[in-house]
Amino acid sequence: MKQKLIAGNWKMNGSLIANAALVHGVQQGLASALGAKRVQVVVCVPAVYLSQVQQLVQGSGIDLGSQDVSAHEQGAFTGEVSAAMLKDFAVRYAIVGHSERRQCHGETDEQVALKAQHALSAGITPIVCVGETLAEREAGKTEDVVKRQLAAVIHTNGHCISEIVVAYEPVWAIGTGQTASPTQAQAVHAVLRSQLKAATEHSDRVRILYGGSMNAANAAELLSQPDIDGGLIGGAALKVADFLTIISAAAR
Ligand code: PEP
Repeated sequence: MKQKLIAGNWKMNGSLIANAALVHGVQQGLASALGAKRVQVVVCVPAVYLSQVQQLVQGSGIDLGSQDVSAHEQGAFTGEVSAAMLKDFAVRYAIVGHSERRQCHGETDEQVALKAQHALSAGITPIVCVGETLAEREAGKTEDVVKRQLAAVIHTNGHCISEIVVAYEPVWAIGTGQTASPTQAQAVHAVLRSQLKAATEHSDRVRILYGGSMNAANAAELLSQPDIDGGLIGGAALKVADFLTIISAAAR
């Protein structure tokens, strides 16, 4: 059985003081949240805090993640951070294609696929986000949208596709307090699972996370679905007690 993965996406939140308190709080509660079980726990932090959080999580069993990675290797790309730079800070996971980047920064499926490729070639696991808007769901296009988004990543990354993590994040559920029901989420996860199966014989290795207002109250039911292998958590990852409750739900 795959180890579940719980990744916190801090988004553009934090400060030196707040980060230290948050990481220490999670570290302190981690052993009792996990019990005898193992869950991979990741925090995806703003790029300027990678160095600080790299030190904070050392030896704690918490892995470091970034919220983005450049689609380029190096050079005249002001403001961007390359996969090799992330590797310098022991980053193990990089979120790519988050809907906030697709929407606010116009990232295309092809750019997201290239970002995943750069992460993989640096030995960083991309967490590839896919998900439909409310209008797309209401128009019955959910399956088409998520399959199109994942297909671009499969096309660019070929046999390496079994090394990625996928996060299904319905856009209408992100930061809204409106969660996909376990049945709705499982249905989309099953679609993604069969798309991965068709792409690689090692599809069983790929973890498919759910993200979108996952919280302490709804995590256990979502995480008990057969194709939900973990969560990508925004708001609730900023609260020690809530994040630990989600981790312990994944450890059940
Ligand atoms: C996210 O930003 O990836 C996310 C899932 O946010 P939230 O949990 O706040 O909906």
